[in-house]
Amino acid sequence: MRRRDFLTGMGAASLAGCATTGSVAAPETSQAPYWTQFAPVRSSMNRVTRTLVGLRPYRPQGYRLGWEYMGDKTVVHSYGHGGCGVTMSWGTAVVAADYASEAGHEDVAILGCGVQGLTTALTLARRGHKVTMYAAELPPHTTSNIAGVLWMPTTYFDREVATPEWQAWDRALVRMAWLGFIPYVNRPGYGVYWADHHNLGPREPRAWTQGLPGGDDIYPELTRTIGPGNLFAYDYQQRFKAMIIDPDYYLDAILQDAQTAGARIVQREFSDLSEVLALPERTIVNCTGLGAGALFGDESMYPVRGQLTHLLPQEDINYSYVAPTENGVLYMFPRNTGIVLGGTTDYHEWDRTPNPAEITRMVEGHAELAGRLSV
Ligand SMILES: Cc1cc2nc3c(=O)[nH]c(=O)nc-3n(C[C@H](O)[C@H](O)[C@H](O)COP(=O)(O)OP(=O)(O)OC[C@H]3O[C@@H](n4cnc5c(N)ncnc54)[C@H](O)[C@@H]3O)c2cc1C
Repeated sequence: MRRRDFLTGMGAASLAGCATTGSVAAPETSQAPYWTQFAPVRSSMNRVTRTLVGLRPYRPQGYRLGWEYMGDKTVVHSYGHGGCGVTMSWGTAVVAADYASEAGHEDVAILGCGVQGLTTALTLARRGHKVTMYAAELPPHTTSNIAGVLWMPTTYFDREVATPEWQAWDRALVRMAWLGFIPYVNRPGYGVYWADHHNLGPREPRAWTQGLPGGDDIYPELTRTIGPGNLFAYDYQQRFKAMIIDPDYYLDAILQDAQTAGARIVQREFSDLSEVLALPERTIVNCTGLGAGALFGDESMYPVRGQLTHLLPQEDINYSYVAPTENGVLYMFPRNTGIVLGGTTDYHEWDRTPNPAEITRMVEGHAELAGRLSV
């Protein structure tokens, strides 16, 4: 099947099917599409600056957020956030901090210095706790540093495995997480900004009828349109303002905020649970991401490998997209430091070596999409 057929193949039938859906805007006919103003991504091998591979800490039943007694310690767990640990941080980390505060001890140990550990540490230190972060790797060497990041709750649980109760709770946390990021947008040094985001597809997504995660009202300027005026001529498009978070800026900034609030950092790797339980603090918050699997014996945890290729920055790009193509999903997020190209999700894959074939797929795939802007 030719690429264009793949993308538009659902066209006529889907259009007829969706014409009765009240929330769908009519196709643009009389004017030039809005995206003619968009600059194309200059995607070529000689503009590649780096390729990074990371392992998303995936748990089919959803992240673990709760607490238990282990001997005389209270251990709070916040790990297994899959492909949305940054997105969810101002929800899950605040709940983890609440559990830690409720344990009633001034001193708190946080295991891990990724986005979950840092956000929890910052929250607790600002409440007056004496916080020590223990971590094998610090920014810029955590998985959180590798992330995209589009603020969008996706790829972090299996709908068939997670319980309805967990999913209902998660929906409430999604809204809290979104609100937590708003004060950081455009704040100098934090690397958080709005982009004109597009979720594209050849067929009607669940979110057209069931709403986007957390509720449509947290996606400003949301429109749902059926082609042909959609970006890259996809049949189905959801367009809204979404937050792009550049972790190279953001993690450094909140690390500094946590330290300013009094949190200490100790670089240290724990080889087993007995070392954790020997810590002096009575309250311990476990934010070890994928490391929690081995450290706390959680056999449901496994990696979902992702590879991102960065291009030279382009100041003229402030839109983003996620687009399924006949060669797999492709996404593009603009940052001040570069254009991030992604779209790999390899379940149970531990190898962190960059795959050259994937670099080619991304660079050529995004170049092909960019070429459609001039059609
Ligand atoms: C390619 C890719 C793209 C992604 N895109 C997005 C996105 O667009 N949006 C989004 O929200 N998320 C995205 N993610 C997911 C996100 O990166 C993760 O969900 C998030 O980083 C998890 O944060 P964390 O703090 O739990 O774990 P981590 O960042 O992995 O931090 C874990 C910390 O625990 C420490 N640790 C682990 N084991 C031990 C041990 N035994 N002893 C001592 N310390 C230990 C580590 O050293 C580290 O400091 C992406 C991930 C990848 C790989």
